[in-house]
Formats: sequence, C-alpha cells, structure tokens
Amino acid sequence: MKKILLIHTGGTIAMEENKSTGGVNTKETHPLEATLRELSDIAEISVKNYVNLPSPHITPSHMLELAQFITSQTNSEKFDGIVITHGTDTLEETAYVLDLVLQTSIPVIVTGAMRSSNEHGSDGPYNLISSVRVACEEQSLGKGILVVFNDEIHAAKNVTKTHTSNIATFQSPQYGPIGIVTKRGVLFHHTPIRSSFFHVKNFSKNVVLLKAYAGMDGNLIQAATNKADGVVIEALGQGNLPPATVPALKELISNGIPVVLVSRCFNGIAQDIYSYEGGGKHLKEIGAIFSNGLNGQKARLKLMIALENTSEPDQLQRLFLQ
Ligand code: ASP
Repeated sequence: MKKILLIHTGGTIAMEENKSTGGVNTKETHPLEATLRELSDIAEISVKNYVNLPSPHITPSHMLELAQFITSQTNSEKFDGIVITHGTDTLEETAYVLDLVLQTSIPVIVTGAMRSSNEHGSDGPYNLISSVRVACEEQSLGKGILVVFNDEIHAAKNVTKTHTSNIATFQSPQYGPIGIVTKRGVLFHHTPIRSSFFHVKNFSKNVVLLKAYAGMDGNLIQAATNKADGVVIEALGQGNLPPATVPALKELISNGIPVVLVSRCFNGIAQDIYSYEGGGKHLKEIGAIFSNGLNGQKARLKLMIALENTSEPDQLQRLFLQ
C-alpha cells in the first residue's frame, strides 16, 4: 500500500458553519476524521496538522516554510506522495510557490473545499479522496505541484480560483486541466513543462501588485518608489497602460525597481505590441519586464522569489519568459 503524507493547513475544508449565526469558521478538531477511516482502504495515511488557518491569513513566508517542512519530512521518512489541504482563497499561490521552490520526486497535491464540513454537499471529503488517489498514481510523478478539485487535475502554474462559491471554482484559463479523476481511475491528458527552480531561504523583498484601469495616473506607482523592491502591474489588454502612468514608471525603473507587466485579461499573454505612449512596445523600451501568461498574484510571488537571486533586469526578463 502507498504511503501518503497528509498535511492540513486549514481553510474551509477544516471549517464548520455555525447554524445559528451562519458564520463559517475554523474548528478545533479536524472534521475529516471519518474520511480518513475511508482512506485507509486506499493508502497508508500519515497526518500532520501543520497549521489551521483561513487561507487569507497565509503569507508567502508560510508557503516557503511549508516547502521546508515537506523537505524535512521527506528527508526523514519515505513517502510515495503528499496531499496538502488548504483554504481556497490563496491555494493557487501556495501551490505556485511550492512549484517554484520544492524539489521532490514524489507527487504533491493541493486541495481544499468550497463548502465547510457540515454544509449540504460539502466537497471536502470528496476532494481529499480524489487527491489521495492522484497522489498514489505513478503517472502523477514529474508533473510538478498539482491542484486536485472537483474531479479535475490542474498544474499549479495555470490554475486559478474563478468563482466565489461554486465547487467548480478552480480552472486553468487558456490551458484547461491536465487530467481528470473518474470513478474508475485517474487520467492525464497533458504533461506540463516545468522550467524554473529556485533556491530561496526566506522572503526579504517587498513586491506590490497593482491593477491598471481606465484613467489611471502615476500616484500609486509613485507610492511604490520608496516602499517596494518590485512592482507587478496587471496591465490592460496585451500589456498597455494609460499614458499618465509613464513618468512614474520611468522613475521607478530608473531607481532600479523592476516592473513586471501581466495582463488583467485572464486569457492570453502580455507582450510588447503597441508603440503609442503607454503601449506595451513603449513600456518595454523604457525597461518594463513582460511575463508569459502568469496572473498578477503568481507573477508577484515569482518576482519575490527571483529577487532573492538577482535584480539584474535582463536576467529577470529571461526568468519571466520561462
Ligand atoms: N475563505 C476560505 C479560505 O480560503 C475559503 C476556502 O477555503 O474555500 O480559507
């Protein structure tokens, strides 16, 4: 029987609804005990209650420490796979940080739930069972960190939370899932390409994420000049910004603060196409770095990680094309 390390970090999967107030909150005792008994037919499960936090309380440092915790666990004991339960709000961010920093040869699956443990149609137990099944699969090896949710398997780099409440919330816009979980088995239909690994001990850089909008000026960008080590902007369309942002951007870049542009569109890639004032081609000429389809929150984490290794603009641009 396969040996799976199950790491709980909190989130709705570990929460309960208070029937008189309607509020959903964390629970002292983990609600997945009954599911664990059922799981013992599938795998030998070793449980670690790592933290019990709503995922808006999870920080990048928690994500990095989780990677270090996994490494220490797998160095001291042999496991065939790892399943992490996590709140869905920042699940994609934890999955992506693990994808960039964790070097392990066993499958690592991140999952959660949209409905708490005592709500009708609670999806936690089902997602947990599916995740353990995927973690036990030989085919899951070498595919990076996977997110298993609602019968789908997604690559950490592409997956994002798309719906506030629907259990089919996790989607990979533009790319789709890389596999599905059925009653009879686990079927992969794509293999993601993994290109970047980083060695990071801790996060020391502050990177802010801004979203562009019609009529945006340079005020918020300017505010970043003294406070941030890097800025990610969810730009318009293919990677364009209103012209009034340009002077502040130039100042930021000339002060050695990297500016990474992604698109606020959730499909497609930001590129240097338009040459008008504030167009992507113009922004590239003044030193903006273009990413390769990451969303804003993941580009921010990648820049935080990259800045621990280099602040050299050409190197950063190369990293963001991978
Ligand atoms: N707000 C919750 C959290 O992320 C949502 C969830 O887990 O589904 O912790």
